[in-house]
Amino acid sequence: MEKLSNYINGRLLAPLNKGYIENTSPTNGKPYSLIPDSTHKDVDLAINSAKKAFKSWGKSTKEFRSEWMMKLADAIDDNAEILVRAESFDNGKPEWLAKSVDIPRCSKNIRFFATAILHFESKSHDMDGMAINYTLKQPIGVAGCISPWNLPLYLLTWKIAPAIAAGNTVVAKPSEITPYTAYLFSKICADIDFPEGVINIIHGYGKSAGSEIVKKCDIISFTGGTETGKEIASIAAMQLKKYSLELGGKNPTIICADANINLAVESVLKSSFLNQGQICLCGSRIFIEKSIYSKFKQLFLKKTLSLSVGDPKDASSNLGAIVSKAHMEKILSTINLATREGGNIISGGKRVFLDGDLTDGYYLEPTIIENLAYDAIVNQEEIFGPVVTIAPFEDEEELIKMCNSTKYGLAASIFSENTSRSHRLAARIDSGVIWVNTWLLRDLRIPFGGMKESGVGREGGYSSLDFFTETKNVCIKIEPEENK
Ligand code: NAD
Repeated sequence: MEKLSNYINGRLLAPLNKGYIENTSPTNGKPYSLIPDSTHKDVDLAINSAKKAFKSWGKSTKEFRSEWMMKLADAIDDNAEILVRAESFDNGKPEWLAKSVDIPRCSKNIRFFATAILHFESKSHDMDGMAINYTLKQPIGVAGCISPWNLPLYLLTWKIAPAIAAGNTVVAKPSEITPYTAYLFSKICADIDFPEGVINIIHGYGKSAGSEIVKKCDIISFTGGTETGKEIASIAAMQLKKYSLELGGKNPTIICADANINLAVESVLKSSFLNQGQICLCGSRIFIEKSIYSKFKQLFLKKTLSLSVGDPKDASSNLGAIVSKAHMEKILSTINLATREGGNIISGGKRVFLDGDLTDGYYLEPTIIENLAYDAIVNQEEIFGPVVTIAPFEDEEELIKMCNSTKYGLAASIFSENTSRSHRLAARIDSGVIWVNTWLLRDLRIPFGGMKESGVGREGGYSSLDFFTETKNVCIKIEPEENK
């Protein structure tokens, strides 16, 4: 089986203790590679390499960093086909999705911050001629970037790019469940001789390698589950270091009676089942105004039943595999719980067994549940799979109560042709990201992140560059002419 390496100081290295973890493809349930089970020794090596590199990278010009990042983005594009196949095989997502979303976003992330840094400004405050203040935005040091399995290379580069653009160096860890494209990325960095030590990639478990990164890096950017986020925050807070947390969600989708119903159904189909429902922004609770409930339900049900779960290589597969056996079983047990809580499964609910080589893969039917109370566990806890609940609402008060009833506040979508109503609802929903008449329309400049237990801080555009820099004010007194 292929052994993946860590990437430290520009070199691909075996883990120092020689321990490995099996990596399975969810498409067929078979192990196919081994990833380093890194320990504190590997993390120390990576941190030292990043510290050394910071001495020059942190003082380099923006143009120098930008040019290297553009070269890296080009190299990702040159390797796009290999990355697409690898991302799909490692994660289970359809190849068409990796090709249209994941991999193009990796080079886009890098180009976006490579150019944003050239336009990053700092402020100046004039004290009526007595003094002038100016603000420096300086890199911080070694950034720890930890990412989850649902959008593996997309989210890893979303963190690495602003960190290095701002002049930091990085120790990054992909999820142990989907490590493969991060490994290919490190090979690309090595192939183009990316300045050594600026990007270091450590593989391994969160509890060992991940928590060492949290303890030892100067600043932490984390995307993953809420419980992990709390653990990370407790370490980072005790060390009084900066952290940004992008965590779980339980996002509401709202269909008002005046919505363009066909547009809403098409959009809800995507927000429910794209990437097998494993996008933090997926809408898992769908609230439909009572007067159009049955009409919407019928249209949505018909479209859902027409979706195909199949070979991720096949362009006609709408859904591929769930990321792991453990996650598939967790989703199935949640569906069971929904029936015990009084829910009625009107579509899906079962595992799908494909033919031939894929028979042991982790495939699930897209599932719709109705008749579940808004405060049932299944409507309160994140599922992170192809499972949604539908429920009618009577008026705005009831809708807002149901929407805001969870501990999360990441994303929401509102479908309505009434602009005033959309504004009114958007202002009242507890959510960091709100879409009106669309879903997942992303501008990389916007402040992106969640409220309540969905996160701390905002990523994107200048918010990311602000996060990855230390703000320093310099006040210069101006002597009046008479004192000369
Ligand atoms: P996870 O929290 O289990 O793991 C995420 C990463 O953290 C992995 O690399 C893991 O190895 C590492 N990790 C685990 N324990 C750690 C520890 N104690 N210290 C340091 N690192 C540790 O999450 P997951 O299951 O990989 O991802 C799914 C979750 O991610 C979902 O809750 C989803 O909503 C969330 N997510 C959020 C966003 C967002 O932008 N808000 C985006 C994508 C995914």
